[in-house]
Amino acid sequence: MPQSSSAKNSVRILPESLINKIAAGEVVERPASVVKELLENAIDAGATDIHVTVKNGGKDLISILDNGWGMNEADAQLAVERHATSKIIDEEDLFRIQTLGFRGEALAAIASVSHFELLTCDDESQGATRIFIKGGYLEQVGKIGFPQGTKITVERLFYNTPARLKFLKTTATELQHIQQHLIQKSLAHPHIHFRLTHNRQLLLNLSGGQKLQTRIQQLFGEEFKEILMTVKHEETYLRYSGFISFPSKPRTSRRWQYIFVNERNVKSPAINHGIYGAYGTFLGKGQHPVFFLNLEIDPAEIDVNVHPAKTEIRFRNSQLVHTILVDQISRALKDGASRRFFGREHAHSNMSRTEMSGQIELPMEEPLTLVSQYSGMTFPNRKKRSSVSRELPPRGALKAKHSTEISAFTAEKPLAGIRPVQEKFEDHTPTKTAAAPEAVPENFPENEIRNLRLISPLPEVPKKIRVLGQFRKSYIIAENDAGLVMINQRALHERLLYDCYADALQKKEVPVLTFKASLLIELTPQESVLLEQSLDHLELSGFAVNPFGGSTFAVNTIPEILSSDQVEKVVKEILDRLALFGKRGHGEEIIHDICEVVSAHGSMPAEQELELFEMECLLAQWEEMGSPLFSLQESPILVEFSVQELERRLNR
Ligand code: ADP
Ligand code: MG
Repeated sequence: MPQSSSAKNSVRILPESLINKIAAGEVVERPASVVKELLENAIDAGATDIHVTVKNGGKDLISILDNGWGMNEADAQLAVERHATSKIIDEEDLFRIQTLGFRGEALAAIASVSHFELLTCDDESQGATRIFIKGGYLEQVGKIGFPQGTKITVERLFYNTPARLKFLKTTATELQHIQQHLIQKSLAHPHIHFRLTHNRQLLLNLSGGQKLQTRIQQLFGEEFKEILMTVKHEETYLRYSGFISFPSKPRTSRRWQYIFVNERNVKSPAINHGIYGAYGTFLGKGQHPVFFLNLEIDPAEIDVNVHPAKTEIRFRNSQLVHTILVDQISRALKDGASRRFFGREHAHSNMSRTEMSGQIELPMEEPLTLVSQYSGMTFPNRKKRSSVSRELPPRGALKAKHSTEISAFTAEKPLAGIRPVQEKFEDHTPTKTAAAPEAVPENFPENEIRNLRLISPLPEVPKKIRVLGQFRKSYIIAENDAGLVMINQRALHERLLYDCYADALQKKEVPVLTFKASLLIELTPQESVLLEQSLDHLELSGFAVNPFGGSTFAVNTIPEILSSDQVEKVVKEILDRLALFGKRGHGEEIIHDICEVVSAHGSMPAEQELELFEMECLLAQWEEMGSPLFSLQESPILVEFSVQELERRLNR
């Protein structure tokens, strides 16, 4: 129907409900944005305990309960109006914002596109206020019993904006976004207790009163303790503190990069470039640092009002911020590196010439104080090696041992991690300092001693073979009674991992890494069916996987020899293998396949520089396991040249 000209041309003010919907389009993009806004309100209200409950990725229900200071009835009624805020009064305030919110539109916007219930009580009111709003229309205001704090429940989000509704993604995706906001907020506020429940399942439970480092571990696992160093800097213009990864411990993803400016999680090109600039050539192609950085700066120096969701900020003097970060972080990286010196730059400069490393350059008697480059712990003095007890040592000692010697057999730790060339810089900068106390804060809590049965008890030096060095970063060169031996280090490592892992599996004692925040993986329908059928076997193998609705699965534990970024790949590869068996597959074959895939992924890459003690450790373990001669692919692990053969060839 053609519109009448008067309807087409007349200018009019939009009704409030429509304005709110339009605003909602900016602020409320998806369920996670609701969670973000409501979390921010709870934090601004001084809450120390925040519980987020969602159903079906927030598409059906989002509810946030906090113990903040709450509101009285009059404020509650105002709060749901557009442009109602208690956080700024005049324009000047806009330039000294200390709170997360200030625009006064979140509640109104959310309430305009959902069924919205607000329960709130401050410390002075008699009874709590309940307000119910449907699609922007106030339906009810009343009194109700409720303790001090606020609970906001949002149901049927976007029920009246079908276009938005259509754009919502799968439950898993929406939930990932929600989880991400919780992670961000919980890192910015480690003193707050956060919980996230999804479809009645408690996904996150992050106890309050924590320090940032504990929070990082709660969220991302113990392994982060070993890759991070503290940074701290203060000057009049800005202050920052936090954790960054050692230059030798880059990741292949930007996933673990968090910047907080005045406690707000933000994107900031100035800061990002500054940090990357500081790492400089430490980072290879496709490598990224991990950082958790809290920056404090005079609110007048930043503009947070760049984006409706307040995720971006601008610095008045971004060049200065950039310069400070490049200078200070690169200095911290270099300081950290020198502290990790372990007194062998000679051996290494020779080695790079000849591609050999070995005891020729390294007198055994030299009292080396080895510093673990992974935990910042002092490595036990080499001379005492033989006296190391086979029983579980005390915590500190175990950690040091774990992160240097034993970890030769674990994934994310020394041997398994690729050690780029820059590691040399870290290890061999010529400043002889014994330990690296600041590298990892001493108050880093030790949650648990890992179950090391997979890799211990471990003899320290092989009995029948003596390591001479390494060739082409791929082969261990050694001698035994018969002659010279060359060992394919990767094949050896893989085989050992397989044997240890299969052994642990048999005993139902597979050491695992546990995630607090489940890792969600999305599978194809075929894969899902296979996975459902193999849940028991996977569980036995150290993968605690739970169906999460549809073809989404939550992974809560993985075998310790893997790292978290390998999970999806490994699971899919296992399923691929299982698919080959079809219905014929039975227990043992399935377990064998799982072991093969896991040890293949857990083992070191084909080329990796190894320290002498690491090679000794590998060979000692090899002897312990009965000196297997063949790899999993059934090729020889080693070749021997007998003395006779060598002599014959040399004296021809
Ligand atoms: P803003 O946070 O930008 O001020 P909102 O629409 O998010 O705007 O909230 C409006 C007002 O409602 C806030 O300024 C605050 O006074 C009040 N409010 C919202 N959520 C809470 C809460 N959980 N506890 C106490 N007060 C709240
Ligand atoms: Mg707000």
